[in-house]
Order: sequence, then C-alpha cells, then structure tokens
Amino acid sequence: MINRKVVIKKNIVVNINLLKESELQKLTSLLDEANNIVICCHKSPDGDAMGSTISWMLYLNYIGKESNIIVPDAWPDFLQWMPHSETIIRYDKHIERANELIKNADLIFCLDFNDSKRLQDMCQAFELSSAKRVLIDHHLSPKITPDLAISFPDICSTSEIVFRLVWQLDAFEHMSKNFAVAIYVGMMTDTGAFTYSSTYPEIYFIISQLLRKHIDKDKIYRKVYNNFSSWSIRLRGYIMCNKLNILESSHATYFALTREDMERFHYIKGDAEGLVNEPLRINGIWLSISLKEDTERDNKIWISMRSVDNYYCNMIAEKFYNGGGHPNAAGGNLDCSMDEAIEITKNAIQYFYEMYNK
Ligand code: 5GP
Ligand code: MN
Repeated sequence: MINRKVVIKKNIVVNINLLKESELQKLTSLLDEANNIVICCHKSPDGDAMGSTISWMLYLNYIGKESNIIVPDAWPDFLQWMPHSETIIRYDKHIERANELIKNADLIFCLDFNDSKRLQDMCQAFELSSAKRVLIDHHLSPKITPDLAISFPDICSTSEIVFRLVWQLDAFEHMSKNFAVAIYVGMMTDTGAFTYSSTYPEIYFIISQLLRKHIDKDKIYRKVYNNFSSWSIRLRGYIMCNKLNILESSHATYFALTREDMERFHYIKGDAEGLVNEPLRINGIWLSISLKEDTERDNKIWISMRSVDNYYCNMIAEKFYNGGGHPNAAGGNLDCSMDEAIEITKNAIQYFYEMYNK
C-alpha cells in the first residue's frame, strides 16, 4: 500500500487513512463487481447526509461507476443550492422508480445512518433488496449488518469519512471543486461550523486540502446559515421569546413547536433547523430539547436534542424518545399528543438532572 501519511514537519505526522488494507481491498472488490449502485441516507437529509452522498457519488463517477442517490424525503431549502442535488431522487416523490432502482441494485451504500428505521418509508424496499451493503457512517452502535462496515463514531461527520476514504484511495487530487464543496458542507454542519465535536487536528488538515480546490468557505457558511426567510427568523424569535421553557435548576430547556405555530409563520421545511442549539447559549444550560409536531400526521412528535460537555443526551433519546444519536446531538420521535410529549419531556429532564446531580 502506498504510504499516504502526511509529514507536516519532522515528527508531526497526520494520518488521514482509516481503513486496514483488508478493508480497502474488500471495498474495491465490492466496487469492481457492482454495476447498479444506489447511495442512500437518512430521512430529512441534513448537510452531512447531502454532503457525504454527493461526494461519494462524485468519487464513484471518477472511477467509472454510475450511481443513483435516493433519499427518503425532502432536504431543507438552505441546501437546495448544493452541487448535483438536482440529480438526487426523492423516494416520497418517485416511489416506483426508486423501488425499481433499489430492487435492481447490486450494491447499496448506506451513508450517515446506523439503523434502517431511519430510512422511514424507504425501509421496506431496502430490507427486501438482495444487494450487497456497505455502511459508511459515524453513529454509535450500528444496527445494520452490512457486507462491509466503515463505521467511525469518533469522526465528526460522514463527509469527513468520505474524504478520508477518497484520500486513502489516492483519488483526492482528481476530485473537483464540487466534491470539496460537498465535503465541506457536511463537515461544517455536523460540527456547528466547527464549534463542537471538532477538536482534532486532522479536521483542519482536511480543510486545508479542500481550500486547495478553491472552495469559498465563507460563502458556503453564508449560504447555509444566513439563508433564513423573514418568516423563519420571526418564527425563531417567537419561539425563543414566547415558548421557551427554562428549567434553570435542572440546567435544561425545552420548547414545543406546534402546527398552529407553523401555520402562523408560514413554516416550510428547514425553518426551525438548528433552533435547538440556541438555548445552549444561555449560561448554565446543559441540555436543550425541541419538540415538533409532524406537519401532516396527527400524534407524531419529532424530538431533537443538544447538550454540552460530558452531559450526554443520546441516552435520554434512547430511554424516552425511541431514538438515539451522538453524545451531544440526538433525536427521536413519539406517537402521542404534544401534551403527552411535554409530560414525557419533563420526566426526561428530571431523569437527566438526577443522573448528573447524584
Ligand atoms: P437533529 O436534531 O439534527 O435532527 O439530529 C441530531 C442527531 O440525532 C442526528 O445526527 C442523529 O444522529 C440523531 N437522531 C435524530 N433522530 C434520531 C432517531 O430517531 N434515531 C436515532 N438513532 N438517532 C436519531
Ligand atoms: Mn452526520
């Protein structure tokens, strides 16, 4: 194997490679044998899901393999500009075509999710497919049993894993600016623009390489984060002012976004994205929980959680919300009314408080 470690200075070595030689060979042989490749990601694709699927598709193009990205449903408006997003197939909009592609696939890449439940309505087609599977992901404890698992929970984003694979496969020099843009979006969005889960040097080496492809990182930031509609900014202000419950002694907050709120503020998908981070800016708050009613289904509440330092929210997501996630960013969902979800949330906060204040 070519040694692709990077010597920055004598004694300073950055190791970008992730795979053992045997895993690398397995990956290349699976790719050699594949003719019909599907790449998929979790429901409500976020920046990392979009960035990792698009960049992996571009790598597959480079090695002469066509592939189709199929995602369960819509991605937020603020990611519409992403390069090649127009080629992505939405399962909820093109069920027949997507089912056909999944049925005929001989290789499926599962990016940025660790449990087929997160494919939502696409899950059944996926489970029925006889295609070989490769998982490329950074969530803890995968519940998918693939032919090859490329699972690195210590890495901040799936997009970073894709970069490191492409680097190890010696292809980065051949990749386009669009590839670098997609990787950067994924790395940036899964770290809150490098404000959490991003304290190891390899990340900044990778960014330095992406900059060599002439990405405009400041413009990417603005396109993703400074892209609110006026309704969205008003909704955010309203939620923080009128609906945020601050349980100071428990170091926790929660808010409930109802359909009524959404209608009032002409809500579209993505309008409340990242709002759950906002309460963590309050001094002394360790945990923030957002409850959101489904826009169509009754008695369906989506939960999003964030926490800081060693106060972990993923176990709250597992215990109270049928979910999971990363130590400081997790989520889940409940089949109940908002009032019931709020009661569950109060219990969850009490549990969290007792756990860390024993
Ligand atoms: P977000 O709040 O951005 O929607 O989700 C944050 C993180 O929580 C995601 O990256 C994902 O790891 C995790 N997550 C959200 N919902 C679920 C869920 O229903 N199940 C699991 N296992 N993880 C979830
Ligand atoms: Mn991710």
